[in-house]
Amino acid sequence: MALADEISPISPIGMTLQAFVDACADEGVGKGRAKEAYQAVFREGKTSSAPAKITMPEIVTRQEEPVNEGVTVKFVQRLPNPSHKLARHGIDFDDIESVIIPMIGRSGRKTHTLCVSSQVGCALGCDFCETAQMGLIRSLSASEIVAQWWAARFIEGIEIDNIVFMGMGEPMDNLDEVLTAIECLTDRTGASIPMANITISTVGRVDGLRRIKEQVQKPGWKRLGLALSLNASNDEVRSKLMPINKKWNMQQLQDILLELREVRGGRKIMIEYVLIPGVNNELEHADELAAWMNPFLKDPTREKAKGHGGLLNVIPYNPRRDSPWPAPTEEQVDAFVERLVSHGVFVNRRRTKGRDTMAACGQLGTAEIRKRKFVPVKLSASEDQSTPDA
Ligand code: SF4
Repeated sequence: MALADEISPISPIGMTLQAFVDACADEGVGKGRAKEAYQAVFREGKTSSAPAKITMPEIVTRQEEPVNEGVTVKFVQRLPNPSHKLARHGIDFDDIESVIIPMIGRSGRKTHTLCVSSQVGCALGCDFCETAQMGLIRSLSASEIVAQWWAARFIEGIEIDNIVFMGMGEPMDNLDEVLTAIECLTDRTGASIPMANITISTVGRVDGLRRIKEQVQKPGWKRLGLALSLNASNDEVRSKLMPINKKWNMQQLQDILLELREVRGGRKIMIEYVLIPGVNNELEHADELAAWMNPFLKDPTREKAKGHGGLLNVIPYNPRRDSPWPAPTEEQVDAFVERLVSHGVFVNRRRTKGRDTMAACGQLGTAEIRKRKFVPVKLSASEDQSTPDA
C-alpha cells in the first residue's frame, strides 16, 4: 500500500462511494481505507482524511431571517473561476446561493430543507424571477452542488432532511451534473439523504422530463421528487411570463407529467403557482387552472381512486427588484385559493419564506450578485463606465 504522503489527495465531494473507491484504487489505496476516508468527510465533516481531502468554497455572506418555524438561513459561497469573462474587471469568482428553510410537519416534527442552486444565473429568462436578471454565467459541477449540502451540514451545523433544486438555475439545463450530485447525496455510506426527500423543480423542459422518466425507472430512483413551476393557467399568459412555454406548451407538459405519474406508481408531482397580481390571479385563471389540474385529481393507479397525482402549491409573488408587479394581498390569495378548492383541487397555500433575504422559490439572486451583470463597473477615472457582459 502507498504511504500517506505519496498519495495524491482526492476530493470525494460529488462522488459516490464506488466512484471514490475506484479513484483510490488508481492510487493504490484499498477499499477499506477509501470507505473510512469517505465516511470521515460525509459523516464526520472532516476536510482531510487521507486520501480524501476537500476544499470548501468560502462562505462570503450569510443572512438569517426568523420565521414561525425557526430561522431561515441564506448563505453565499464564493467559487473560484479564473476563466471568468469578467476577470479583466478583477472578478474571477462566482457567487452561489443556498437557503436552509425550517419546516414543521403535520406530526409536529421540525425538519430542515436545503434549497440548492444548480447554475450561476439562468438562461431561461422567466419574467418574475430574480435570477433571470443575471443571465446564465455557468452551470455548476456535481461537486459544487454537493458542496452546498456539506456547507449547510458541517459549516452551518444543520441536519438536512430534504433537498430541493429550486435555487439559482434550471436543473434540466444541467441535468448530468444534477443527477451525479443526487447519486452522491443519496449514497448510503455518505450523506444518505433518502431519494424521496430530494426534489428537482423545473419550469418545464419536456426533453428533460423525458430523461427523468427514464431515470426514475432505474433501481433506487423511483421516489425522486418532482416539481413543475407552472405559474399560469393558459399558454398566452405562460408564454409571456416564461419564454420556455413557446417551445413546450401546457398540453405537452400535462402529457409528460401524466406519463411520469404512471411510471412513478402514482407519486405526487408538485405544481407550483406563483400568484402575481394583475397577471395570473383572476378567478377565471383559477377556473382554467383547475381544468388543467383535473386529470391529476383522480389517480387511476391508486386503489379506489383515493389518491391524487398532483398537488398545487400557491406561492404569493415575492417582488423581484424593479418588479412591475406588487406582492398579492392576503385577500387576493384567499380568493384564488378558495376558488380552486371549490373545484376540488388539492391546494397548499405556501407563505414566501425568506422574503427579506430574496430566498423564495425561483427568486434567488441577490443585488450584489446581479451587479456583476447589470451595474456599470467603474474601471478608472479615464474610462467610461461600462456594463460588462457575463
Ligand atoms: S424561474 Fe427558474 S428557470 Fe426561470 S429564470 Fe428563474 S431560475 Fe431560471
